[in-house]
Parts: sequence; structure tokens; C-alpha cells
Amino acid sequence: MPELYRVAILIVSDRVSAGEAEDGSGPALQKLLKAQLDSDKKILFEVTTTAVVPDETLQIQEMIKLWTRSEDEAPNLILTTGGTGFSPRDITPEAVSPLLDREAPGLVISMMTGGLSKTPLAALSRPVAGVRGSTVILTLPGSTKGATENLLALLPILPHALSLSKGEVNKSHPVIPAAASSASSHPIPRDTCSHGHAKKSAGVALRPRASPYKMISVSEALELVLDHAIAAAKKKTPEKVKLGDPALLGAVLAENSTAAEPVPAYLASIVDGYAVRSREGPGEYSVSSCVSLAGAGELPELHEGTIARISTGAPVPKGADAVVMIEDTQLVTASADNQHELAVRILGSVEPGDNIRAIGCDLAQGAVVLPKGYHISATGGALGADLGLIASSGLQELLVYRKPTVGVLSSGNELVELGDAIRPGQVRDANRPTLLAAIRSAGFEAVDLGIVPDMPGALETAFHRAVKDLDVVVTTGGVSMGEADLIKPLLASPPFKMHFGRVAMKPGKPTTFATCSDSLIFALPGNPVSAAVALQLFVIPALKALANHVNPITPHIQVKLLHDIALDARPEYHRATVFSPPPGESMLVARGTGSQASSRLMSMASANALLVLPSSSEHSSPTLPAGYIAHAIMIGPIQ
Ligand code: AMP
Ligand code: MG
Repeated sequence: MPELYRVAILIVSDRVSAGEAEDGSGPALQKLLKAQLDSDKKILFEVTTTAVVPDETLQIQEMIKLWTRSEDEAPNLILTTGGTGFSPRDITPEAVSPLLDREAPGLVISMMTGGLSKTPLAALSRPVAGVRGSTVILTLPGSTKGATENLLALLPILPHALSLSKGEVNKSHPVIPAAASSASSHPIPRDTCSHGHAKKSAGVALRPRASPYKMISVSEALELVLDHAIAAAKKKTPEKVKLGDPALLGAVLAENSTAAEPVPAYLASIVDGYAVRSREGPGEYSVSSCVSLAGAGELPELHEGTIARISTGAPVPKGADAVVMIEDTQLVTASADNQHELAVRILGSVEPGDNIRAIGCDLAQGAVVLPKGYHISATGGALGADLGLIASSGLQELLVYRKPTVGVLSSGNELVELGDAIRPGQVRDANRPTLLAAIRSAGFEAVDLGIVPDMPGALETAFHRAVKDLDVVVTTGGVSMGEADLIKPLLASPPFKMHFGRVAMKPGKPTTFATCSDSLIFALPGNPVSAAVALQLFVIPALKALANHVNPITPHIQVKLLHDIALDARPEYHRATVFSPPPGESMLVARGTGSQASSRLMSMASANALLVLPSSSEHSSPTLPAGYIAHAIMIGPIQ
């Protein structure tokens, strides 16, 4: 029966993984496989996935486990290349062996015979071969020549082996009873804890019991995040945005904005009163027919011995050099209908320029209105007065850096959409509403990317799609040590690049950061509080850096503790409420928000600050006493 077999290729090489060498075997194997045709001249093999890992047991195992986790999506064949020799770092056979449900020494003999027929050096390869679930796994040597020779030796029987391992009946070969095949392939009992799509392989018992990812400090992690965000921000070209476009709110200016017109654009009265010639002094004056009102058009001339009625903001008539306010005058005569003032007495003397705003005295033409790097109408900042200033200076558009685009998705088979019926063991998705709101209230737009199940294919597709359109992708769940936690291995292989997978902090230890070309990916833990805290510590600063904020890091403030707090072994970001100083005190005070369990979202919902607590080993005593002055990161307004 013609069949298209799916193949995954895993390149095991420290140097290729570090970018120090180019992989030759992968492309050579792909070419060889592509050239294999069945009797109908159709291709037999399709290489669906490739990945590169260093010569590290856990990373090799994680990748193979990821690929073979779902029965439906697992490839028919996994080829590894590299790490089969005698040098101390060559551990591929040792990494792969425990993952095999059944070994296939016959395939090893064929590979060795094929290799030895070309060169005695083939004896220095230590391949293993076997079956995991229904996937055949072969470990080929790392050299292009060795890898292709070994595979060539197996090609004549490979399609048949793949077909048999799928449990298919092939007319031209001995029939394998389906029952015998499925029973014997799973020596370890079926896993009942894997969220409904149980995998038949021996995987879960052999999963790593220590995380393979290096633990780094919060400050190291933040530095890595900001380095990548700043580098990505530098590549963005600024855009002209019209005044009145909401996109201006929260954007950062890409150039000095200079006043197109002076403010005020004419000599303007500061008060309601009479425009005068100051040298004429106090006395009685006839009120000339010219009445200056704001917007009155062509300016009249003030003749000697007369004064002109003028209102606040109106242009001062030609010939006048000061304004006397109405409070410093007396009416002498009025018209019979009292509609016109005919004569008015000026009571005191005025200096030239009194009560007149000079042209450009608020803002000179060409002066810098707002400087490059200015953060427009930042939340709680200028509150719109900056845009008013821009409008008054005659500017119609500004050159700004656009804010980054962000998407948020939740991963987890147990998650249920709001409004859907919930079954035992299911959980309502609390993370998306939390993170979307937190991002939006920090002044950024966020796109809802929905819920994605814990399935390698679904996650991979979701990540690929998201990074294509967005500057930042934030996910929650699937980064811990459980067997359904698939995101880390995915982000550790090309085209993704993982920069850290563990941070010394509580909550949020499994926080993971990766990039894919210029897109930033934050894979946050599933526990709602962990996700919300990690968002504040890493994602919000990254968004600010991407938006070209001059200082993307949330500043620390000092607060006095209202009660004792026991320290944790990890540096802790303790949720707290910060209040204004009590009567007679000058310091802000802080109270914890109760149980700090990372599942208890209430501890975050009632917090306006994260207390930055040292780990117990960093501090002289295991508890911080009431009255202790601690650092805090404000995440909401002071109570
Ligand atoms: P994980 O990080 O996927 O191992 O999840 C850790 C815990 O957080 C589990 O109890 C999950 O059910 C829970 N969790 C994960 N994602 C969410 C979510 N979006 N909303 C609420 N709880 C979640
Ligand atoms: Mg999960």
C-alpha cells in the first residue's frame, strides 16, 4: 500500500546548537529521503520536523518525548545524527536507549554492516535503534558521510519496518496480530494522568526529575529581556501620527517637536479692562469706538487721548502698550441706553507691557515643545496637557514610535472558556482576563489568542502564527515539570531561541523567555498569581522598552512593614497593599494580602504593590519584623 511516512530529524551537536558550526547531515538526510519513491513514483518520506540540541541527555530526551507524546501527531521515524562516537560528550545512544519501548538490534546490525562495507572507521559508531510507541528511532553518526551510509543501508527495509511498527497488515509480508503488537509495545501500564489523550510510550516514568534549565536571578533575567527588547525596538521605524489619533496616547516621540507658531500669536490682554497708552497716565479718557474682543479680526488703531475696551485674550490695539483692569477704573458717562461707555476714568498709572502677554511668551516659534523620547500623555503623567500644548503650537502630527503589538494565550487541556459548562477537573481560564487587563491598563493594546490545548502540534502552530503577526507573545501554563508541560522543549528548538527557562523567584520560578527573529515570547507559569507577577516583572518592562520608553523598569519605592513577614528560600515578590503614611508618620506603610499561595488570585487582586523580599539566605534573620523598611514595586495606585 503506498504510504507517506513522516520523519523527524534531531541534530545532536554542541557546536551546531551554539551556532558555531553548520549542520551538514540534516540536509543530506533530507535529500536522500526525498529521493526515495514507491512503486507509483510517489515520494515515500516527508521530513516534517527538524531540531537541533546540544549533546545533553535531557535535551535529547525532552525533544524525542515531545515529538512522540501524541499518538496522532508522532512521526513514523525519528533519525538522530551525532553523539554516537567515543568522545566523552557522545551520549546520544545512552539518552535514546531508555526511551525505547523495544530495541531493534537487527537494524543496528544492518547499519553497522552498511557502514563497515565502506570504512573500518564505522566500527567507532555505537548506534541504537528501536521503537517508541509506533515511532521507529535510529541514531545515526554525526558526519554527513556516516549518517547517509548508515541510512542507505536501511532504506530497502525501512518502509516495511515503519509499516509494521504502525501495526499495519501488509499483504506481501507476515501478518503481525494487532493485539500482540499493541500489548507488547507498552510494557509500562497506560498512563491515566495525562489529560485524556494518554500516550502509550514509557515516557512519564522516565521524565527528568530535575529541570535541565539553568536558574538565573531576576536581575539577570530582566537584563536579558531588556537587551532583546531594546535591540528589537531599534529596528522599528518611527511613524507620523495625526493629533487626535488615539494611537498617540502612550507613544514615545521619535524627534524633538518644535512649535510651528508662537503662543500667543499676537499681543494679548491678560485681563478684562482698557487698552491704554501707559505714558498718558491716570485721568479721564473717552472710550474709542474700537472694542477688542478675542477673534475680532483686523486690529484697530488707538488714537491719542482715548482708551479701548478690551476683554481677556483679545488682541491689544495698535498704539496701546498696556491694559488697565476694570477694577482700577470708574465709569464717567455712558450712552442713554447704557449700551456704550463714553468716558472712563483711569485711577492708577501703569507701566508699558502691564497685563499684556508678549508674542511667543508662552511658547516661542521654533522652540522645542516636547523633546525626543517624551512619553505622550503617560498614564498619570501630563494627563493630556502635552497634547493640548502641541495643538496650540500649530503642529498637526507627531513622529512617534508605535507601541508594540501583544498577544495573550492560555495553554492547558483543563481550561474552560467563560460561559462554557465545566466538568470535574476542569478550570476556568483566569489568566487571559488577568493578563489582558494588566497589559491594557499599562497602556498597551493586547490581542486575545484564546486557549490552546497541551498538544505539541497545536502549540507549535499557535506559536508560529502568533510570532508572525505580533511583537510580543505571552502564554501561560505548560512550563513546569509535568508531563503535559510541552512549551519549554518547543521554545528550545529552532526557529525559537530560549534565553532562560528558570528564574530564582517566588512565585514564577518556571518563567521562560524566548525569541523568534524580532518577536519576544514570554511563556509564564500557569498558576494565576505566578503569571500575573511575572507579567509585572518582565513583560511590562519589555513592552515599555519596545515602545522606546527612556526608563522601562518600574521604580522601587520604600515602605514600612505593618507586620512580620517570614522569608522564603527564594527571593519573593510578596503581594501587599501600600497605604499613605498614617497621621504623624512620613513613610508609606505596607500590609501583605494574606495567603501567598500562587493559585490564590485574591492575593493579587487586593494588592497594589509587590514587596521585593530577599531570600532567607540573603538576610540575617528568617523574618522581616514589623517596622522593617522594605522595597516595593507599585503595580496600582496608593490606597
Ligand atoms: P501549569 O503551569 O500548566 O502546570 O499549571 C499550573 C496550575 O495553574 C494548574 O493548577 C493549572 O490548572 C493552573 N492554570 C494553568 N493555566 C490556567 C489559567 N489560564 N487559568 C487558571 N488556572 C490555570
Ligand atoms: Mg498545564
